[in-house]
Amino acid sequence: MTLFDSPAFEGHEGVHAFSDEKTGLKCIIAVHSTARGPAAGGCRMWPYASADMALEDALRLSRAMSFKNAMADLDLGGGKSVIIGDSRTQKTPQLFEAFGACVDQLGGRYWTAEDVGVSPADLMNARKRTRYVAGLEGNPAASGDPSPVTAEGVFRGVRLCVQRALKRDLDGVRVAIQGVGHVGGYLAEKLHAAGAKLILTDVNAEALHAVAARTGAQLVAPGAIFDVDCDVFAPCALGGAINAETLPRIKARVIAGAANNQLADAETGRAVFNHGLLYAPDYVINGGGIINVAGEIRALEAGQAFDPAWVDAKLDRLARTLEEVLDRAASENRPTNEVAGEIAKTRITLAAENKAAA
Ligand code: NAD
Repeated sequence: MTLFDSPAFEGHEGVHAFSDEKTGLKCIIAVHSTARGPAAGGCRMWPYASADMALEDALRLSRAMSFKNAMADLDLGGGKSVIIGDSRTQKTPQLFEAFGACVDQLGGRYWTAEDVGVSPADLMNARKRTRYVAGLEGNPAASGDPSPVTAEGVFRGVRLCVQRALKRDLDGVRVAIQGVGHVGGYLAEKLHAAGAKLILTDVNAEALHAVAARTGAQLVAPGAIFDVDCDVFAPCALGGAINAETLPRIKARVIAGAANNQLADAETGRAVFNHGLLYAPDYVINGGGIINVAGEIRALEAGQAFDPAWVDAKLDRLARTLEEVLDRAASENRPTNEVAGEIAKTRITLAAENKAAA
């Protein structure tokens, strides 16, 4: 199979591979769509076993960013970059400067930011060679840690799903959270403040006990989180939490959490629906983080300070989009992930048509 026949390549405007002998940089920048605006998505540094695996990841992630940015109603398309390498041993300031020069070659068609293995300090180095970098620190446009904003969006989404599926508010609702890192920790605090009863797990015992001390939560071992009695299951760790093995064990009526790629595949979305569970599509409910980054891009472009009120208005709009997904899925009796995919594709296609007509 060639690149052009690969299902992951489908719909991509461009895929760019760069190398720099001096710094050892090998990176791929995938631009899925610029229909709604410049492509935006983080940079991931990971020790991929092969260039093919890096390419596949870049393609999959950049398409997902198009969908996420469209559902967050941002004037941004979707893109992603990956650097092949071990972030613990192979990072140098020069490597990220060289990466910045690669981003710059795309002339503003792609904005980069943080993702796994990349820190604000790395981005500061990239920024020396390009202005198309968000997720910086120490300037008035800087947006800071996106996790609290992501958690706020997820919190609003959990509340909406509970109202729809259980016809009640959060007080007394039992929520099982898998992963209490940056987002899961903030989410736990918000749910606790709203009166929810929490059941938590994490492979990091220290983080787990710290969040439990703040929220009075019940704790379970990582493998047991799928079996607990709960109303809501909130995946906030890694992808693939909902799969053929875990789904039959989940007792919740709602699945709503922060993790990316929660469903093992699209068929799992249909299985979730057939089990009678209400699923909040991940790239809709977790859009708060990219909204925060978009706030920084907007401020940088205008030469202004970061505006939290703009971010909050976008979070409200995101909640309405989730409502639209749930309404349509209910009235058409279809899985929410299928409906969300259709809405995202329509928004991207419409923007492409408007751009072509302009
Ligand atoms: P994080 O690394 O801070 O937290 C993840 C937590 O999950 C960690 O505490 C880790 O120990 C735990 N974990 C890992 N494997 C586990 C397992 N098998 N069982 C239980 N716990 C496990 O990451 P984060 O920034 O909080 O992001 C969480 C998820 O949300 C990720 O999937 C991320 O891609 C997604 N997300 C994050 C943001 C954001 O703003 N940070 C935005 C959108 C999506």
